[in-house]
Amino acid sequence: MRVLITGGAGFIGSHLCDRFLAEGHTVIAMDNLITGSIRNIEHLAGNERFRFIKQDVTEYIYLDGPIDAVMHFASPASPIDYLNYPIQTLKVGALGTHKALGLAKEKGARFLQASTSEVYGDPKVHPQPESYWGNVDPIGPRGVYDEAKRFAEAMTMAYHRYHDVDTRIVRIFNTYGPRMRLDDGRVVPNFIGQALRGEPLTIYGDGLQTRSFCFIRDEVEGIFRLLMSSENDPVNIGNPHELTILEFAERVNALTGNKAGIIFQPEKRIAGDPQTRQPDITRARAILGWEPTIDIGIGLEQTVRYFEKQVKGKN
Ligand code: UDP
Repeated sequence: MRVLITGGAGFIGSHLCDRFLAEGHTVIAMDNLITGSIRNIEHLAGNERFRFIKQDVTEYIYLDGPIDAVMHFASPASPIDYLNYPIQTLKVGALGTHKALGLAKEKGARFLQASTSEVYGDPKVHPQPESYWGNVDPIGPRGVYDEAKRFAEAMTMAYHRYHDVDTRIVRIFNTYGPRMRLDDGRVVPNFIGQALRGEPLTIYGDGLQTRSFCFIRDEVEGIFRLLMSSENDPVNIGNPHELTILEFAERVNALTGNKAGIIFQPEKRIAGDPQTRQPDITRARAILGWEPTIDIGIGLEQTVRYFEKQVKGKN
């Protein structure tokens, strides 16, 4: 296959590039590099089946030759990033999805939309099955991301229903691993960075809010299987192992031997921060035969090793 991956220099996008190349496919990565980084794909320079194009996908996409699959992964994805780039976040979810779908239609390619657990907002159903419509505040600080992704899902289904494009929608839950940005503001790089510098971990709120963390290798496997399946309805891909943020902080301190403890910063909690989040992966298990296999202890060790190099590089 010849595959276009938008957001190909991002955290998940760059791992997808690796995965498709490893399967023998040809990959074109497209990224405007506002939150992605060339460092995530520099190891692919010189690979004759890989090409990088620096482009904002909200602009018209022209590509020569056949394309078999379009994976639309371009978007700021951490709360700090989408608060810093609110308009770009809305544009890439709306205009960028339109352009990427237009390309898929033109080329007769499959299309996979990277969606998110944020479509469920601060959920009133727990765990969250795909059938849940969500509890999203459109005008809250997270609205720019949540509504962009909800629009992207609606646009994807419209192209499927009215233009017969063969589409997929993956709802990605919290994912972690090497190539996350140390300064993306999310809880995993924040805590590991703080622990490696011997600083206290900053918990926003009381730490009783929950998240369920999926290691990048498991996440990519689920996404890859979804593309290869024939499922057009949304599928949750995430790890159902749920932790409170407090439990997560304690794990990070234990793993890194950080003695500086934890401090609580209630004022830093962004309005609309979901209180709970856990994927219901019944559909992924049934349709894709997929479930996560990597324990958080093992995934965190690999992530800590990656961030160790980054933290040392900064000193
Ligand atoms: N969080 C925290 N300390 C930090 C960063 C985040 O306590 O230094 C909390 C945040 O308030 C949220 C959870 O950790 O409840 C996960 O936040 P993240 O930014 O990783 O992503 P989200 O899942 O909210 O999109």
